[in-house]
Amino acid sequence: LVVLEGVNKHFGDLHVLQDINLTVHEGEVLVVIGPSGSGKSTLCRTINRLETYESGRISIGGEDLPEEGKALARLRADVGMVFQSFNLFAHKTILENVTLGPVKVRGVKADQAKKRAMELLERVGVAHQSAKYPAQLSGGQQQRVAIARSLAMEPRVMLFDEPTSALDPEMINEVLDVMVQLAKSGMTMIVVTHEMGFARKAADRVVFMADGAIVESNTPEEFFTNPQSARAKDFLGKIL
Ligand code: ATP
Ligand code: MG
Repeated sequence: LVVLEGVNKHFGDLHVLQDINLTVHEGEVLVVIGPSGSGKSTLCRTINRLETYESGRISIGGEDLPEEGKALARLRADVGMVFQSFNLFAHKTILENVTLGPVKVRGVKADQAKKRAMELLERVGVAHQSAKYPAQLSGGQQQRVAIARSLAMEPRVMLFDEPTSALDPEMINEVLDVMVQLAKSGMTMIVVTHEMGFARKAADRVVFMADGAIVESNTPEEFFTNPQSARAKDFLGKIL
């Protein structure tokens, strides 16, 4: 579903993505881990074309990433993204946050968008908060709304960039539980996270990045019990 072939990107002198080759199949859950600065966020942003790249190819559902314009907007709607910070619209209610995109970008009728939004808010456990504003919700609740908002666009793939790292510890699991459910429902997911419990439970494959390159790609069992590279061994030694 998502294919990267020989993707390279620089920030000035920094070779932030080095010849990245990666295929994520329909329904696959890929966890990306690696040290700070290894290029994980840049990889996510490049897949969504929030960042440009210099060489290589990225395609989603067999379609090359368009450069700009309407085709790019459509493609971006196919790729949901949830960030570390919740990025909800502060001056819109929870319900409005979830209906806005479908109505404006997908052209869904207002009452239909509302019905679907309430189903999604139910699914992530915040339906009873739908009339509130983001600031009135906890971080964990806001992040679950952010997930519902992305899902409302009917994405083909969901990208998560450290979705729980800004949360208080007691709220991490409520967000991870929603993500595990989503994984089980068959959603194609690319998840940058240091939550090894999630990786063990939900990942089909773990990709380890260091210095802008993919160093290892393996099943979670193999990766955690039998890392191949010195970089991965060193990294796991620090976080486990
Ligand atoms: P972390 O775990 O800390 O989130 P990361 O793996 O997500 O790290 P990136 O945010 O992708 O890493 O950054 C990779 C490298 O690119 C870092 O060295 C960073 O300083 C650099 N970088 C990121 N964005 C830019 C930018 N807009 N301009 C210049 N350099 C950048
Ligand atoms: Mg990052």
